[in-house]
Amino acid sequence: MSIKEILLVGNPNLKKRCTSIEDFSDPMLQIWINDLLDTMEARNGAGLAAPQIGILKRIIVYGFTFNPRYPKEKPIPKTILINPEILEFSEEIDEYYEGCLSFANLRGLVPRSKTIVYKAKFPSGKEIHQEVSGFEARIIQHETDHLDGILFPKRMKDLDTLAMFEELKKQN
Ligand code: ZN
Repeated sequence: MSIKEILLVGNPNLKKRCTSIEDFSDPMLQIWINDLLDTMEARNGAGLAAPQIGILKRIIVYGFTFNPRYPKEKPIPKTILINPEILEFSEEIDEYYEGCLSFANLRGLVPRSKTIVYKAKFPSGKEIHQEVSGFEARIIQHETDHLDGILFPKRMKDLDTLAMFEELKKQN
């Protein structure tokens, strides 16, 4: 078990484009995945992208049973996606107060496609190609953005909606 430090906004590694995984037999792959899962769990993340722990590779993890950072969301199975690629974005958009472990408890209203079609590989190298909607689709969009050095405020339409989670909770 290895819980890593999460890089915070301002760290230049969060702005870099990550490279694809080519060698699925590389023993480092499982180490990176375990570090991502352990760190996500320890910090109550809904998802985590490799660059957030300083690994500039195209790996994302997500999933939880109950998430205190997003208490209204239903469980999502723990998922590891390698080299994820979003192929289709629905025109239908959802707005949601999104957060990010690299921004502590800062949230902002982020419009994202309600449904996406994506492809990726599992750690075994097997390819997955499917459609997802709702919070899972949002997480995949957010985490895949990290792999291209894009952080959620860049997706916001109105920076006036920035708010700390503690303040949002008071308003609900
Ligand atoms: Zn994030």
